Amino acid sequence: MDNYICITCGTQFAQTDETPKHCPICEDERQYIGNNGQQWTTLAELKQSHHSRIEKQENKLYGIGTQPSLGIGQRALLIQSDQGNVLWDCISFIDDQTIEKVNELGGIAAIAISHPHFYGLAVEWAKAFGVKAYLHEADRQWLMRPDPNIEFWKGNILELQEGVTLIKAGGHFEGATVCHWMLGANRLGALLTGDVIQVVADKPWVSFMYSYANLIPLSASKVRSIANAVEPYKFDRIYGAWWGSVIPSKAKVSVQNSAERYINALR
Ligand SMILES: [Zn+2]
Ligand SMILES: [Zn+2]
Repeated sequence: MDNYICITCGTQFAQTDETPKHCPICEDERQYIGNNGQQWTTLAELKQSHHSRIEKQENKLYGIGTQPSLGIGQRALLIQSDQGNVLWDCISFIDDQTIEKVNELGGIAAIAISHPHFYGLAVEWAKAFGVKAYLHEADRQWLMRPDPNIEFWKGNILELQEGVTLIKAGGHFEGATVCHWMLGANRLGALLTGDVIQVVADKPWVSFMYSYANLIPLSASKVRSIANAVEPYKFDRIYGAWWGSVIPSKAKVSVQNSAERYINALR
């Protein structure tokens, strides 16, 4: 019995005797099965070869990734807060050293995840810190390891705590969520976006896709919805899903301009 982990997307599954037959996340048209076919690993196996990389991003914000890169290769973000730290997004690895280091940074009071590609080891993380992981109800079907530590939230906004707000943006996934951190970027506000709002090579532009792996775009109305969802919030900086995918300043105007450019290109 083990909670097998899909090597391509890094999603951990409910306990089974043998490796699962399918990974619905990878079989979905937004992802893909690796060249060598469907492959599985376990956390015990990963602990032999991987470790966490934890690095300060700005005052009270730390990135948490895995080395060597695992699955989709994202890094999570830890917001340090007097009201209790929030882990934004998740990764496919955790070990005692990681837990120790995160505890030194103040531990975790709640986990929130942008969309199913980054559910990763959410249950392991939630159990390790004895907290809930908040996922949007609209993506419930994509949770491969149901658990009492998973909390589904409904609606368009969830204020996790004062100054840390989950915003349902949709687009990439029905329940795709971004996180507004009021005190980020020296109190100018930061938006943590995963790949729901994607930081692209030509900064400060961003983009939006249904599938990044298979280059399937979103409709104009979906792009408009994403831009509208974040418009009421004050933010200057965006943190995307990977190390270095950051728009340091003037990110809010960039989101609106990028949405316009995208919609114009679709016309
Ligand atoms: Zn997968
Ligand atoms: Zn994704």
